[in-house]
Formats: sequence, C-alpha cells, structure tokens
Amino acid sequence: MSIDLTNPIFHDDAAARAHLEAQRWPNGPICAHCGERHADKITKLEGKAHRAGLYQCKTCREQFSVTVGTVFERSKVPLAKWVLATHLMAASKKGMSAKQIERMLGVTYKTAWFMMHRIREAMSPSATDTSPIGGTDKIVESDETFVGGKAKNAKRFKPVPKKYPVVALIERGGPMRAKHVADVTGKNVRKALVTNVSRKSMLMTDDAAVYERIGKEFYAHGKVNHSAGQYADEIGFKHINTCESYFALLKRGIMGSFHSVSEAHLQRYADEFAFRWNHRKTDDAERANAILKAAEGKRLTYRRSGEAGHA
Ligand SMILES: [Zn+2]
Repeated sequence: MSIDLTNPIFHDDAAARAHLEAQRWPNGPICAHCGERHADKITKLEGKAHRAGLYQCKTCREQFSVTVGTVFERSKVPLAKWVLATHLMAASKKGMSAKQIERMLGVTYKTAWFMMHRIREAMSPSATDTSPIGGTDKIVESDETFVGGKAKNAKRFKPVPKKYPVVALIERGGPMRAKHVADVTGKNVRKALVTNVSRKSMLMTDDAAVYERIGKEFYAHGKVNHSAGQYADEIGFKHINTCESYFALLKRGIMGSFHSVSEAHLQRYADEFAFRWNHRKTDDAERANAILKAAEGKRLTYRRSGEAGHA
C-alpha cells in the first residue's frame, strides 16, 4: 500500500475539503441544486458562524458545499477521516475490516462500519453508467461462484453461515461487473448478462447448462469443458481464468477481512472488489480520487445500509 499518511488531506479538514473540491469540481464549484457553475464562496454570514466550504449559487440562490449530494453528506465524521478511509479502501487489495478502519481512524466500530458501507456505495457502478462491457471482437467471460459460509472455525458457529452466488462478467483485458443473484438459474444468469454485456461479444463460459440458451444470443459462445476436466484449450483461448482470479480476490478478502458476509451486503462487497479490479491500472491515489469523484449522487441513508454489526 502506497499511502503517504503525512499528507495534510488525511489530518486537516480544510485540506481534505480542498482536495475533495479539486476532484469533484476541477473547473470550479457546481451548484448541487441547479447544476449551474456560478457561485460565490460564503465567507461571512451575518451574525453567526457559517459552515466551512459553503457556497451560494448565483442562479438559484441556494447554498451548497462539496459534500451536498454525496455519500459524505450530513456526517459528523471529519472530512479528513473520510478522505483517509477512502484512500485505505482504494489501496487495500484484500479489502479492509471495520476493525482496521476503527483503529486507524480513531472512530467507533459502528462508525467505521457505516463509513465503509458509504464508501462502497461510491464504488458501486452508478445507476447512470449502464454502458455494457464487451462488444465487437471482445471476449467476455462469465462464471459464477458461491461466497460466504465456512470460516476457518465454522464448526463453532451454529448454524453454519450460508453461501450465496455471485456472477462475474469480465471483458478480457477490460472492465468487469459482478452481480449477486438469488439462485444460479438460466433466467437470473441471462438477466445479469443482457443488462451488462454487449451481445456483439464472444461469450466464454464453462459447460454449465444455464449458459446453453443465452449463449445463442451472443456473437459466439465458447465453452470450456469443465465437466471433462478441461480448463483451457491448447492455445489458451477458451478459458474463464479471469473470472477465477476475481473470485480468488473476493473470497480471500471476505474470509480475511470480514470472515463472513450477509446476503444483504454481498453486492456491495462484490462491487468493492470489482471497482479495484476496474481501476487496477491506476495507482492507489488515482484510484482513491476516482472514488471521491464517484461519491456524488449516491448518498446512503442509515436505514438503507442495514444495521451496523451485521456485515
Ligand atoms: Zn443553483
């Protein structure tokens, strides 16, 4: 992990705010209410203390700051701690536990847990970003695995935690998506595929029956014959090893940092690992800044994130 912990953005709220503004507003402040670019910084409010980083829009006269409409909005946690937590999660290949964040930030476990879920929300694919992966001359691997369940000392837990399926869709040499599905059925797998992958792609799967029909909707369908013990063809073309690599990261992360995962939160963990995968070619700081930029419009309420402690 290459984080310079002496950087003021991790300790000084004004520096953290300036950093967040530079990421979200490279060309100056944008009104959170009307989207216009003309705003004045409020330096003095008559007779009372003003909030740091407050702007007033010249068009709609509303006030806003850089955290309005983001996952950091209305938080009592200092902004510098948010920026540090974001960098830690961006840099940690295996994922971090709430316990680690609690220690490093000096916040309560509950706060650490909640912050991490908010940051995961920023790492999830945006509802507006529906552009499919793959396309002409692209190979998209699809595979599914079961995550959660058995920890090292699972016998001590009763009942043994359940395992839940995740489908990975990965364009070779390109981006990926991961989808938790209720059950591995042809219907669920098809839905994940057609909503995320261009049908112009060549689909690469194992010989599971769930891919039989959906495979025909794609430009071509390559199958590796897992049931016959085959894991790649002679020229290394037909395989789903890229999916295997993602699953290995996800499983190691969940076992190592979270021990187990509830079904309610599985999609967010899968998104967290997919985000790092999709930004693997950038350095740790750039990856963190990509999260800060994506924090917009994804504010998560406490209710929606579920109850603390049941990660
Ligand atoms: Zn405005």
